[in-house]
Order: sequence, then C-alpha cells, then structure tokens
Amino acid sequence: MSKKILITENIVGPGIDGLKEKYDVTQDKDLWQKSDELLNIAGDYDAIIVRNQTKVTEDLLKAASRCVVVGRAGVGIDNIDVKAASDQGIVVAFTPEENSISVAEQVLGMMLCLAKKFPGANASVKSGSWDRMAFLGVELFGKTLGVIGLGKIGARAALRARAFGMRIIGYDPYLTKNNFTVTETGAELCDLDTLLRESDFITIHLPLTDETRQMINEETLAKMKPTAYIINTSRGPIVKEEALYEALSKGTIAGAALDVREEEPPKESPLNTLDNILLTPHVAAFTQEAQDKVVESLADDVDRVLSGGPALRVANFPSPRK
Ligand code: NAD
Repeated sequence: MSKKILITENIVGPGIDGLKEKYDVTQDKDLWQKSDELLNIAGDYDAIIVRNQTKVTEDLLKAASRCVVVGRAGVGIDNIDVKAASDQGIVVAFTPEENSISVAEQVLGMMLCLAKKFPGANASVKSGSWDRMAFLGVELFGKTLGVIGLGKIGARAALRARAFGMRIIGYDPYLTKNNFTVTETGAELCDLDTLLRESDFITIHLPLTDETRQMINEETLAKMKPTAYIINTSRGPIVKEEALYEALSKGTIAGAALDVREEEPPKESPLNTLDNILLTPHVAAFTQEAQDKVVESLADDVDRVLSGGPALRVANFPSPRK
C-alpha cells in the first residue's frame, strides 16, 4: 500500500505532481481553516505538507501518529511547533532559500516605488491629471540602506542595492564581520540605534521571535530621519502598526512599505488612508520561479524521507526518530 500524504493548503507544481504519481496524496486547499477536521484525519497520513497558514500545533502533531515528516513550503517556520515535532521524532523539512531572490527583488521594487512615488503617479495619471510637481522623487544613489537581519534575504537585497550605488549598514548581533553575508555585501555592522539614525532606507529581514516582535515601535521609529523610509517583507508583528501609523501621519518618517501584517489578512486599518505607505498582500515570494523552486525542493525532501533517506533542508533532523 502506498504511503499517504496530506496537503492542507494551495500548493501546486510539478513537484506535487511527482508526489501524486508515487504516493496516495489528499489535497484540500482550505483544510488549514478546518482545524477540527484536520485533527480528526491527521492520524491517517505519513506526511503533511503545509504553507504558512496551517497551524501545526503540538495537538495536531500528537494526532498525526503515523507522520514521519512535516513539509513547510516556504521559509518562516513560526506556524510549526518544531520542538513538539522533534519530541515526536518527526522531521520538519522546509525551503530556506528557494524564494530569497524573489523577496530581495520585491525590496528593491518597493524602494524604487517609495523613492520615485510610482504608485501615486500611476493613480494620478489614470485619473486624468498631469501633475509633475507632486511627484518629485529622490535617488537611491549615495543613500544609506540599513539592513536589519543580514541573512539570506537581507544579504541578497543588500547586494542588489549596491548596484544602485548605496552604502550598506547592517544590524545583526548574531553575525561577525567575517561572515560571508557581511564580507560579500560590504556591509558595515553597527548597533540598532546607529542603523536607525543613519539610514535613508531601512529593510527588515528578521525571523519573528520574542526578541524581534514589535522591534519597530514608537521608540525606534522616533530615532529615524524624517526623510527615511522603512520596508518590512519579513513578518508583520515585527512592526507595531499603530506606531507606524502615527509616525507616517505626523511625518516623523517619510514613508513605508509593508508586504506582511500584524494580522493576515488585515482588518480595516488606518494605514489604508495614508498616501505615504505602499501595501502588498504577502506576495514577496509569489513569483512563478520561486514557487516552482519551493515546491520542487520540498517535494524532493518529503520523497526522500518517505523513501527512507535523509532530507536535505530541515529545521531539526534529516531522518525520522520514530
Ligand atoms: P535568515 O535566517 O537567513 O536571516 C535572518 C537574520 O536575522 C539572521 O542573519 C539572524 O542572525 C538575524 N537575526 C535574528 N534575530 C535577530 C535580532 N534579534 N536582531 C537582529 N538580527 C537578528 O532568514 P531569511 O531567509 O533572510 O528570512 C528573513 C525573514 O523573511 C523571515 O522572517 C522569513 O519568514 C521572511 N520571509 C518572508 C517572505 C514573504 O513572502 N514576505 C518570504 C520569505 C521569507
């Protein structure tokens, strides 16, 4: 009897097609919203594949008594209780850098939109106006980009920003000046206060942890230049939206761009009323190429574990311990 895989979200691509040829795959793109049903059926499957919406809790993992691998199509694993999975010997496979380039490209796109005011100019022309003076922009050349979290995405954004002639500074207390993401990007490491004070653009690339939750708040925003912009494509709760709204509406900072939100999808928000913020619906990794790479790598690792081999990209250990 072939092994059984459960997919709880909308995850498609040649990688999944390959799994369907070899295994008994059940896919329900809305199952992540039906937690009781998920809990009831989890025990029937050898592998569970999720994206970022399914909450893979300790209870779910305990119910998944046959499961040897949980696959997360994407980077952030904050929706998976990795410790509980490890306690039960379940491999947690994910795709740590398959979408890094797409996110870094979105950062550059957002920086250019903020600097050149493209979204406002586009809306203005389409409404019949030709108001050039309203859209005086700024150059990226010669400006300082502050990267908070100089990991896989932060470094790729920094490298691309260097092509625009930007100076790169970075705050990442877990790195030394000899780490390759520092040496290869030419970033100067500094403390958070220096980064906030000196940056013309700030881009956030942190995991969501107790330490990073609401790192951008009234106090940190107050340290930024009034001409500076801040971009968050990492995790929404790292930026306190209420404080950001105050800073943007009072002109404490010049502008912001958010791909991720405190709550997703967000409720009606005062941020929607502001002209100096650019909002996208968590799409930084949503390119055809990134999605294909994510699904291909994840399917490969799930297949490896189900075939008795070690997974290559894991958050805990490569082979099940059960
Ligand atoms: P990464 O692990 O490669 O890099 C994160 C960096 O943050 C590391 O260098 C780490 O040392 C640093 N860091 C950790 N805690 C810190 C702290 N308290 N202060 C300063 N630095 C700290 O991660 P990545 O692949 O670059 O991903 C970054 C974030 O982007 C993650 O939260 C991920 O979930 C998110 N992401 C979002 C999307 C999207 O669609 N918007 C797509 C992919 C990834």
